[in-house]
Amino acid sequence: MASLDFMEIPRADEATGRQDAFELFARETLQALGFAIVLDPSRGADGGKDLVVGEQRVGPLSETRIKWLVSCKHFAHSGRSVTPGDELNVVERVKAAGCDGFLGFYSTLPSTGLQNLVGGQPGIEVCLLDHESIERRLLGSVKGHDVVKRYFPASYTRIKPQPANLYGPVEPICCESCGKDLLEPPSGIWVLWRGEPEAGKVGDHYIDMHFTCKGACDVRVESRVRARRHGAICLRRLG
Ligand SMILES: [Zn+2]
Repeated sequence: MASLDFMEIPRADEATGRQDAFELFARETLQALGFAIVLDPSRGADGGKDLVVGEQRVGPLSETRIKWLVSCKHFAHSGRSVTPGDELNVVERVKAAGCDGFLGFYSTLPSTGLQNLVGGQPGIEVCLLDHESIERRLLGSVKGHDVVKRYFPASYTRIKPQPANLYGPVEPICCESCGKDLLEPPSGIWVLWRGEPEAGKVGDHYIDMHFTCKGACDVRVESRVRARRHGAICLRRLG
């Protein structure tokens, strides 16, 4: 299920001052995925901004560098798919840019017509990334998470791991004297006990720790600990 709401990225077809956000997002995403930026987004013949990125492929014998012409289409706000009419003269554009492949970077889906059309182009490589494959790649990489945080702040708040979930359910911490839950609401005190110092030295190791309510419970627990641990030093910390 899709977790990222691509409508968080401003529309590309309105002069809001942020209409280039999707191209910048494409640039940062591809960079986070390990592509090198060869040419920054520039206005193409069809009015869309194109970007050129390089991919280093390492084989057992040699390294190959593939240059991709990236075509960004941000239709998430209308929800329509990218059709052959949106991507004219694909091969000519790739050749004119001196590239080896065509990379569609789309916030919706490519239509079946477009997939069939570009899939059968001779002499160039073709890769179409739709919103789900972009999301999968971003969420699967550490650098990708930084891009998600910046471009999808609301989605990120929904999906980021909650610290409480990392450690399992929250266990209550109860007063050792009366049993009151000290986390609901937060109250009480925690008391750390340091070992008896050796002659001429300050005690430097902790030997005991207790949680209690402030006041009478604290006094009761302290006297129990003192009876058990002769010479120990009590360090109080307010909760
Ligand atoms: Zn208590």
